[in-house]
Amino acid sequence: MSDKRFDVAIIGGGASGLAAAIELGMKAPRLSVAVLEKNEEPARKIRATGSGRCNITNTGAEGYTEILKFFRRTGIMTRTYENGLVYPYSESAADVAELLIARAEELGASIITGAEVTAVENASRDTGRFCVSYVMKERKGRSDERSLIADNVILALGGKAGPSYGTTGDGYKLARGLGHRIVTPVPVLTSIECEEWTEGRKPCGITLAGTRTRGVVTLYKYGNEDNVSPAEIFEESGEIQLTKYGLSGICVFNMTRFMRYDRAGGESLGNFVIKADLFPDGDIKEFLRDRRENAFAGEKTGAVLRTVLKSNIAAFVLDTAGVHTRNKHLGEIPLADLTDRAIDAISSAVHDLAFHPKGIRGWKEAQATSGGVALDELDEMTCESLIVKGLYVTGELADRDFPCGGFNLSNAWITGMKAAGAIADKAMSGADEI
Ligand SMILES: Cc1cc2nc3c(=O)[nH]c(=O)nc-3n(C[C@H](O)[C@H](O)[C@H](O)COP(=O)(O)OP(=O)(O)OC[C@H]3O[C@@H](n4cnc5c(N)ncnc54)[C@H](O)[C@@H]3O)c2cc1C
Repeated sequence: MSDKRFDVAIIGGGASGLAAAIELGMKAPRLSVAVLEKNEEPARKIRATGSGRCNITNTGAEGYTEILKFFRRTGIMTRTYENGLVYPYSESAADVAELLIARAEELGASIITGAEVTAVENASRDTGRFCVSYVMKERKGRSDERSLIADNVILALGGKAGPSYGTTGDGYKLARGLGHRIVTPVPVLTSIECEEWTEGRKPCGITLAGTRTRGVVTLYKYGNEDNVSPAEIFEESGEIQLTKYGLSGICVFNMTRFMRYDRAGGESLGNFVIKADLFPDGDIKEFLRDRRENAFAGEKTGAVLRTVLKSNIAAFVLDTAGVHTRNKHLGEIPLADLTDRAIDAISSAVHDLAFHPKGIRGWKEAQATSGGVALDELDEMTCESLIVKGLYVTGELADRDFPCGGFNLSNAWITGMKAAGAIADKAMSGADEI
């Protein structure tokens, strides 16, 4: 066992931990800083972000200006797109990871990799001194238990999303052990499995998997009482991706943040219904009525609908709308013979296509965690624990989650910077115990 002492121990060498290490190195270079990372290399998740391009931040994110300044000072050039998304100029997430690690080391942080932190004990509530225990990953067939002492600890272990990147929820145990309350973590920014795709009930025998279409998705939630209209709780337009089990795409990912339910109170995913408008820029009723009046001889309904929707989606929509009274598939009905009732049915299938969620894809596929260390136990400005002096909780480990678009990384950077700034301020003010 070692009792090496540091001014600051940062647990987790991901986005938040590295931002904190760099900020500390810039603002308080005399402080000794250790970063303990369980993987053999830090920043594994950063390398995977933005499909390898790393959507660093967003012009609408909290702390956007400070984050841009941070990257400029760190030597990472960025470019901002019209939609507000900010990427490294090189569009290489791996380069961002490498640069952050290099800067943290150049600025004096000791990065200890292959070090899985198993416990953080608060040796003294008054001084805020901590004992951090960790296990060095098996080397030469032996694992090696060690510990260090730190005056400040930043818990930057992330949540549970993407466990293959090292985030397996260890931070909750450590935070709980130090007296913190954990809001139950659930996976978000992931795909939704739908009843319509139940095996053997492949939607109308039509292969939708792999199809992308633009539209608007709206999430409704029913209460547990009957006869009460559902409340609209989320709506977003964008690309809807149809997969082999349900719905995906950024707008669907963002929807999952609103799909928390009270299991103990008898709620389930069955309380939700998703409606998709597949022709948000027009009125399909008007379009079909107009085309009916000007129909060419023998022109079929299916062929006309395929001018608006991709062919498999058009077939699915027509199946959902139901069969025509003469027992012919709607798509086969000549446009000129289409009844008003059939047009109404097609319209509701196009503008109001219902999907019933039966599952949310789990941690392996999720890009973020909803839940975590309760925010009412943290100082919003500094991320310091209101329970344990000298303890800071940053990044995805705390109960904050955001939509896609650079907001989650922004949260990781800015909270890491806030914690580092607060520790640096304490050091500058000459406090005996920093
Ligand atoms: C595939 C994917 C793509 C994404 N793309 C984007 C994007 O483009 N833009 C965006 O804004 N967000 C994106 N996100 C979300 C974003 O990556 C996270 O919100 C962000 O990385 C969280 O930062 P963090 O520092 O809190 O945690 P992480 O970056 O997850 O880092 C936590 C670190 O702690 C380490 N650790 C865990 N347990 C221990 C332990 N016991 N001891 C020591 N170390 C430990 C982990 O190995 C990890 O390195 C994406 C997520 C995924 C999964």
